[in-house]
This record gives sequence, C-alpha cells and structure tokens, in this order.
Amino acid sequence: MFPDGSPLTVAMEEEEYTAISMDVEESPPPPITPRDPPKIQRLEESVVNRIAAGEVIQRPVSAVKELVENSLDADSTSISVTVKDGGLKLIQVSDDGHGIRREDLPILCERHTTSKLSKYEDLFSLSSMGFRGEALASMTYVAHVTVTTITKGQIHGHRVSYRDGVMEHEPKACAAVKGTQIMVENLFYNMIARRKTLQNSADDYGKIVDLLSRMAIHHNNVSFSCRKHGAVKADVHSVVSSSRLDSIRSVYGVSVAKNLIKVEVSSGESSGCAFDMEGFVSNSNYVSKKTILVLFINDRLVECSALKRAIEIVYAATLPKASKPFVYMSINLPREHVDINIHPTKKEVSLLNQEIMIEIIQSEVEQKLRNTNDTRTFQEQKVEYIQSTLKSSRSDTPVSPLPSGQKTPKVPVHKMVRTDSSDPAGRLHAFLQPKPNNLPDEVSSLSAVRSSIRQRRNPKETADLSSVQQLLSGVDSCCHPGLLETVRNCTYVGMADDVFALVQYQTHLYLANVVNLSKELMYQQTLRRFAHFNAIQLSDPAPLSELILLALQEEDLDPENDEKDHLKERIAEMNTELLKEQVEMLEEYFSVFIDSDGNLSRLPVILDQYTPDMDRVPEFLLCLGNDVEWEDERACFQGVSAAIGNFYAMHPPLLPNPSGDGVRFYTKTSEKSPQENPALGGNVEMESVLDQDLLSDAENAWAQREWSIQHVLFPSMRLFLKPPASMASNGTFVKVASLEKLYKIFERC
Ligand code: ADP
Ligand code: MG
Repeated sequence: MFPDGSPLTVAMEEEEYTAISMDVEESPPPPITPRDPPKIQRLEESVVNRIAAGEVIQRPVSAVKELVENSLDADSTSISVTVKDGGLKLIQVSDDGHGIRREDLPILCERHTTSKLSKYEDLFSLSSMGFRGEALASMTYVAHVTVTTITKGQIHGHRVSYRDGVMEHEPKACAAVKGTQIMVENLFYNMIARRKTLQNSADDYGKIVDLLSRMAIHHNNVSFSCRKHGAVKADVHSVVSSSRLDSIRSVYGVSVAKNLIKVEVSSGESSGCAFDMEGFVSNSNYVSKKTILVLFINDRLVECSALKRAIEIVYAATLPKASKPFVYMSINLPREHVDINIHPTKKEVSLLNQEIMIEIIQSEVEQKLRNTNDTRTFQEQKVEYIQSTLKSSRSDTPVSPLPSGQKTPKVPVHKMVRTDSSDPAGRLHAFLQPKPNNLPDEVSSLSAVRSSIRQRRNPKETADLSSVQQLLSGVDSCCHPGLLETVRNCTYVGMADDVFALVQYQTHLYLANVVNLSKELMYQQTLRRFAHFNAIQLSDPAPLSELILLALQEEDLDPENDEKDHLKERIAEMNTELLKEQVEMLEEYFSVFIDSDGNLSRLPVILDQYTPDMDRVPEFLLCLGNDVEWEDERACFQGVSAAIGNFYAMHPPLLPNPSGDGVRFYTKTSEKSPQENPALGGNVEMESVLDQDLLSDAENAWAQREWSIQHVLFPSMRLFLKPPASMASNGTFVKVASLEKLYKIFERC
C-alpha cells in the first residue's frame, strides 16, 4: 500500500496551506479587535482530487507523457498520438500493448489503482514508468476520458468513459484492434484559469512533438508517430531500428546524426559511484543556438539541469563557434541509487553522488570532443574510470617508451604505437615530474576550463562579414590533409629545444616548430572568433605612443644615435594617430580596446587559459601601425589577425633560457668581502653570483610557456588547427626518426 507521508500527501497539504495563507493575506487591514481563528474544514474529496490532478497533469504535454508511458509499460511496439488544439480539445494515444482486463475497468481510473506496485519495497525494484496509479485518475478529474481496449484471446473489445474517477456507464462491447486507445477530451474544462493561460500561450503541440522525438530515440524498439488531428503527415514518425544512430537520424535528421560522437563510461564502484553511461554528443561541425539534452536515467526521460550546464561548459570552452550541443545520454545505475519519487510528474530524479557522476561524464565528453577528428570516429574505447589508478591501469600501453620485447598477436612490434594522444603517460612530463596527488589530468584540466568559462560574456551576434569567410575558406583550402591527420593524432613528448617540440605520430618521431604552429593557430582562431572575443583587461592601461616608441628603440641597431630620436618620436606619433582612427573597428571585431586617452586597455582572448607575453605588446602595436593595409577590408582583417597571431604565438620568452648555457646571463659580479680571504690582504677580489630575482622570473616565464605548449597549444591544435601545406616543406615539421628504421639499426647492433 502507499506509505504515509509520501510526497503526494505533502504536496496536497502544501496546496491547502497556500489556500489558507492567501485567505489571511486577502482579508482587510488588521482588525482592531482580535479575529476569531478561521474554522478548519475538510475539503470535499472532489476538490482535493482536482487539486492533486492539477499537479500531475500540469499541461497537455504531461498528459501525453503519462499516456505514452502507460503504453510502454504495456509492452507496446507501436504507439501513435493524435492531438487537436494543442491537446486541449483532444489527446488520443493508441497502442498495441497487452490491453486492460474487462474486470479491471471499473477501478481503472480510481486514484491509487495500479498494476505495477503493491508494496512500498516494490518501488526499489520497479522497472515500469508508472507506479502511483494516479495518471488516469487525475485525467478524469480535469477532462473527459474514454478508454477502448482489448486483451489477448478476446473476440471483442470494450469501451467506457470516465469522469471524476468513476465509470459513466457500464463498459460497452465494441470492435477493437489489439491494444488500448485512450482519448482525453476537453482538458481542464473545469479549471478555467489554467485553460485560459494555456490558450493564451503558444500551444503544447511543439512540446508534444519534442517529447515523442525524445522517447523515439531512446525506445528504438518501438515505433512512434505523432500528428495533428486530421493531418495526413505525421510530425514524428519513427520505425523500429536496431541502431541508436539510425533512430536519431530518422527523428532529428541527417544533419544531426552525421555530426555525432559516441560517448561511453563504465564506472566501477571504486570511482565512488557505479554507473554506466552511453550516448552521443555533437562534434565541432554541429551548429545550434539551443542545447538539446535528451537524458534517460534507468530508461526514464528526465531533466538534469546540473548535467546540462556541465556539458554546456565543456562545449563553450572547447569550441570556438559558440555552438550549443546536441546530447543523447542514457545512464543506468543501481535502482537503489535513484529516488524517482521526488517530483509529482517524476520529471526530476534525485541521484546518489550526483556531483562525481557529472564530473566523470564531463571528462568523458571533453576528452572525446578534443580527440575527435571527424564523424567516422565511432570505434571509441570504453573508459574504465578508476580515479586513483587512472594512469597505471592502462595495461595496454606500457609507460616505457622503449620496446619491451613483448608481442601482441596483430601488430608487429616495430609498428606498435605505444602512446595515446589523449593519455599523458607517453609524455616526457610523466617521467620528469611525479604528480603530487593522484587527481587524473581530466579533472584538473576541467577546473581550469570552468574558471575560464566564468569570464565568458554573451557574445554578440556573429558579424558574418564575407571577407572573413573568404579568409577562412582560404585556410580550409590550403590545409594539408596528411599534416592535419598528424596534428590531430600526435602525442606531445616534450620540448627538444627552445623552439622545437618532439611529437610522436604513429611510429614516427617529429620535431615541430611551436612558434610557427602557434602563430598559425592564433591567426586562424582570430578569424574564427572574429567579433566574438572575450576580453583580457589590462591592469595598467598603457599609452600607445610610448609603447610604439619603445618598440622602435628596440628595433634600432644604433640606439646611441640621438639624431634619430626625433624621427622615432614622429613615427610613434603618426602610428598612434593612425591606430586611434581605427579604434572602433579594432574594438568591435578584435576586442583590442584603446581608450580616448590613447591607452591600450583590453586585448582579446584567442585561446582560453592563455594570455600572450606582455613584453611583446610594443612590437604588436608597431606591427599594427606599420604592416596593416587599412583601406582594403579583407587585407585589413588579414593583417590585424596576422599581427595578433604573431603577438600571441608562443615565442621563446625574451629572457634567455636559464637551463643549460643560458644561465650565464644571470650571473653578475660582486666584490668578495675581504675577511673571507685574509691571505689577500687589502686586495679586493671579484666573484660571480646569480641574480636570483631575474633568474626566477626567467624560470617562471619558461615554465609557464612549456605548460601552455603542453596544455593549451597541443590540445587546441588537435581541435582547431588546419595546417597549411607550406608547413610540410618550410621546416615546421621535420621527421627525425621512425621506429621501423630504428629497429633495423638495433637489429644490426
Ligand atoms: P500507473 O501507471 O502508475 O500504474 P495509471 O493511472 O497511469 O497508473 O494507470 C493505471 C493502470 O492502468 C496501470 O497500472 C495499468 O495497469 C493500466 N493501464 C493504463 N494504461 C494502459 C495501457 N495503455 N495499456 C494497458 N494497461 C494500461
Ligand atoms: Mg501510468
């Protein structure tokens, strides 16, 4: 039986409570003589039922949801829905399920009559959608309900109408096809206010179509249709299909289905919460202004705003187009971990360890999004997510980069690829810096993503200037497919020197010029984010003219020549004037903000989590003034983007690299105090000491750059860079070794 204190009872009490408190509020100003307490009376049962019905059936789409769930519970393989006037006039749901017994019809629409639950404990082992026995009853309190049904082996069916929970007449024999048909007419006929509100707003048909679309992709063993009354064409029409992707294609269209990546998590108990998740998420080619999250938890269609937000954050941080994702996700977890009984329409559920679950799902989506190269990538591996042993658990990829002699049946050992572009295990860092804690990389990188996303503002609508589009198509058409493949799948090993990184792609080792690569990436991203930048606010706005002058002085090979100073000042002035004329354009399209006093105060964010080297601001401004062709729109955008690209590129810091020989730069000479060496008498001896402050500045700058190369540049390149063909021959990529050749050498030794 239903337990005392169930949420339904609570909800009803709340309604009563609200009614009473409103009474008090509406009474005239406080009487001078104390008023007698109002008399408490028992509400008529029909009023109670109507109030409760209004909770369960909030609008036409909630009635459709309940009816379709009943059909699913009845093992139907085909469900069709017809709607008139947004559901207010008529909702008709027909199925081919097991039907309802003749003898059950009299109590079918009474409250708390159900075939799915008989004792409270059943709630924890329940696999049906419904269990409260309320939906049909509720509908009869706020609409006219007619049921036609036939069970197996019967020669005819029965039809009966209900009002306020009871049959209006004895069931009548009638011809019927397999299953049940339920008609709900004149919804809310007796709730004037609700009907009026619903009539005034956009009707529910769109919501109903949306609901059935969602149901159809999850229950792909059932065919669904939904049409307006009298319409020939159905607005949802799904057929039974064995593949989830096919059902998404048939309901949401090819444009969605072709841009999906499979996501999968199988999380063991050790991660803190056991659950399985499988689904599809849109890739970087998918464009939409609205997030669609189709979420099923233990086969129940639910909403989870926390998960939705978490996924949106990943997309906003990873994709430049500001596209919202399409996500279908089915999560299964032990029934005892879900409380399905917290919401009157079961729309929301409460989950045990929700935060951990969301974090794990977020990591999986982020990782797949970063790794995906195109829609062909469906052969993803299951992620066995065990928090504390993430790295060492990968028994298939030994940490040692050298061949261990162990053989796998398929891949010859000299062709075996032992690194994974998504796994830190193959990086030099894994050997150099033992992590202080066991947090998996994904988790820490996510918090960085989160903090960067907080700064995001509402982007302006895209300025679809055709010249920017042309520049972007130029980028596309110059792209080298082989290099693209390499960039997307390579593993960063470490820095070989100040400019070249070692990367591994399949069995080859390359030297990759990070300055060239980052310059090109920043240029491309500037074009892609055109007019959509977030801003970096400079703490000290800097005067343009001084900065430009500084740049001119740095460029000058003969700084002692005073005659030139005057000239430099003139050039700086002219450049400043020139830039001042362009402030609006620079601000609107590039988020480079110069205030009315001629101070530079804002710069664009080109890649999240990355700020350029501020020592290069003077050079950047000079370059804007000197190199940009301002008259021609396309050339101008290209010039500014290239200047930004060069400024943001990951150049070696201006301070020499203190590791190795560079350390000489940080030594200074100072007098040695005489008492240290009394043998020398009054002679002053000089000694070399390290300038610790400068040294630590330099160490920081270099460490910061290397972090950015590994954590920002390479992941972003994988996702966004379209390497131009010129990079194959201009020394940006140089192959230094291949495992096959090394093997030949080893064999000879
Ligand atoms: P619940 O689904 O919570 O049991 P409902 O009021 O939705 O409560 O339905 C009451 C009962 O009516 C169900 O338990 C089920 O036995 C029966 N029923 C409702 N709709 C159908 C249907 N389409 N086919 C077969 N049986 C149904
Ligand atoms: Mg039900």
